[in-house]
Amino acid sequence: MIIGKSQKEIDKMRMSGQLVGRVLQTLRAMVEPGMTTLEVDQAAEKMIRDAGAYPTFKGYNGFPYSICASVNEQVVHGFPSDYELQEGDIFSIDVGVTLDGFVGDTAATIPVGKVSEDRLKLVRVTEECLQRAIEQCRAGNHLGDIGWAVQSHAEAHGYSVVRDYVGHGIGRRMHEDPQIPNYGKPGKGAKIKNGYVFAVEPMINIGQHQTKTLKDGWTVVTIDAQPSAHAEHTIAITEEGPEVLTLVREAAEEKLVSAA
Ligand code: MG
Repeated sequence: MIIGKSQKEIDKMRMSGQLVGRVLQTLRAMVEPGMTTLEVDQAAEKMIRDAGAYPTFKGYNGFPYSICASVNEQVVHGFPSDYELQEGDIFSIDVGVTLDGFVGDTAATIPVGKVSEDRLKLVRVTEECLQRAIEQCRAGNHLGDIGWAVQSHAEAHGYSVVRDYVGHGIGRRMHEDPQIPNYGKPGKGAKIKNGYVFAVEPMINIGQHQTKTLKDGWTVVTIDAQPSAHAEHTIAITEEGPEVLTLVREAAEEKLVSAA
């Protein structure tokens, strides 16, 4: 069952969304060749706890870290480790926070140093897929419209869409109904209503869409070892259209909002 949120609940989710958005923004600025993914994880956990929140991923179904750190052919759910990021890597950070009872979830794939043109393009197209998906997060549309927005754009560039993992409803729990595939048919699937909050997260591969899980039981990699990129936002469906809760608002903009 899809649980719609009240305005008050969406206001709280905006707080967790802004926090996790700021955490990801700070991590992005920090990433450089030579840094270990575990150092990024520790920085994330400290920021989250210092803000009075909890790193949602830590302990989730036994996941041991605060971020998922997925490099190159790793799709999602990678373990932070003593791996030193290399110039040319693409590094997906997925991070969640629980603040005042509500979860915010966001991810981005960050180029490390100078990165090849084909990898940069993969990252860019994945972000475009997410933007196109967000545009479809409107009352009256269907879940298939979101999936189709991602799939059609990715495939137009010759990429494939990961099918084994999907986006999700989000609220007091990180994973709520519905599942939100990154593929689908326009006009199909559940109807979207105001008050729904979704975490939309395209995972796009240069090669084949199939994945496998490593022996650690978590790290998902592409079956052909070709690179994969991932991007995610938490989005509230409102009467004014999609509100990207995890997109960081600048201070000036916040002032305008609070003055209004
Ligand atoms: Mg998610």
